Amino acid sequence: MPFDLKTALDERAREGLLRQRQILQSGQSRFIRLHDQSYLNFSSNDYLGLASQPFLAKAWQEGLDRWGAGSGASPLVTGYTQAHADLEQTLAEWLGVEAVLLFSTGFAANQAVIKALLQKDHIQYQDRLNHASLQEAGAHSPAKMLRFRHNDMAHLASLLQPQSGLIISEGVFSMDGDQAPCRQLADLAAQSGNWLMIDDAHGLGVLGAEGRGTLSHQHVPPDRVHIRMATFGKALGTAGAFVGGSRKLIDYLVNFARDYVYSTHMPPAQAYATSSAIEWVKQADSERAYLQSLIREFRAEAAELGLNVPESETAIQPVIIGDAEQAVNTANRLRSRGLWVSAIRPPTVPKGSARLRITLTAAHQQADISLLLKELKECTTNA
Ligand SMILES: *Cc1c(COP(=O)(O)O)cnc(C)c1O
Repeated sequence: MPFDLKTALDERAREGLLRQRQILQSGQSRFIRLHDQSYLNFSSNDYLGLASQPFLAKAWQEGLDRWGAGSGASPLVTGYTQAHADLEQTLAEWLGVEAVLLFSTGFAANQAVIKALLQKDHIQYQDRLNHASLQEAGAHSPAKMLRFRHNDMAHLASLLQPQSGLIISEGVFSMDGDQAPCRQLADLAAQSGNWLMIDDAHGLGVLGAEGRGTLSHQHVPPDRVHIRMATFGKALGTAGAFVGGSRKLIDYLVNFARDYVYSTHMPPAQAYATSSAIEWVKQADSERAYLQSLIREFRAEAAELGLNVPESETAIQPVIIGDAEQAVNTANRLRSRGLWVSAIRPPTVPKGSARLRITLTAAHQQADISLLLKELKECTTNA
């Protein structure tokens, strides 16, 4: 037997870290249905509640009527349609970048960029808490990877070598909800002659004027960041991702990013629906303000209850439990009371920092937050 799968799985199980999927009997919205039960959903990245909006499903249907079910080919063959080009144009104008390229997933977009750009003599500087897709691409690239302490600019500055490669950070960190200091990152990149890449999967749509994301929220001009990437599967309510930057960057990726060239393009209907999601997101200032009010209320009361809630002004609100098994037990207890909350354990987060990853969305009602806090209090104090 060339592969010892059983030992690997048994070991995970022994450590209480075996992962299993749950089958949903409903779509993604304020409530989800599993095991023939309905749960209040605090475990979704659908931050604006867009995924279940009828207008978006209708836009997708319109796209299907016009373009059919699939794109039929990779983008350099015959898979690149006007629906894709329109979405690229919409994104470029919205975010103030010269050009944009679409990908089927954010995971693929990160592989594509990092593998196409970084060669053997380059260095990549990655925040220690970067998403698995960034670290995975980095580990497989021939470039040296230096990881800096989370959001620690002095540490990053001490590692930087002039004109050596790429600094990579998330805009909003996916497991912690805190933001990178993007202005300082841009300064360090400019001073050292390196490029900066920001993965804004969790900031796009939620933060900034018109939902333009973390850079806009922190007033960092678009041209100070060489590569920005984000997904459509979170606040935009659909799926897929994009990379944005200079026209030269996009031309380079079209020629050299194998993950782009040798992969069937996303269905045009999906691109069409995503354009419609962006038009909605741009004008959704009141939904963003409402979400912020839920976040503030949650944080104020959670702190009063003595819960360990690290600094985060985004929809991602971790409650640190510490011990992995205890985090799982707490999540299970919440589920028995009708609240779906995810326990996040190592290796997704550092050892000893297992947590409940609570996500708030504009689909929640004020009463949902009060109920969540009441149940959190009971489920953590009797742990
Ligand atoms: C979700 C996520 C991705 C991956 O995007 P998908 O479209 O889900 O593949 C990449 N980076 C970050 C920070 C993410 O949170």
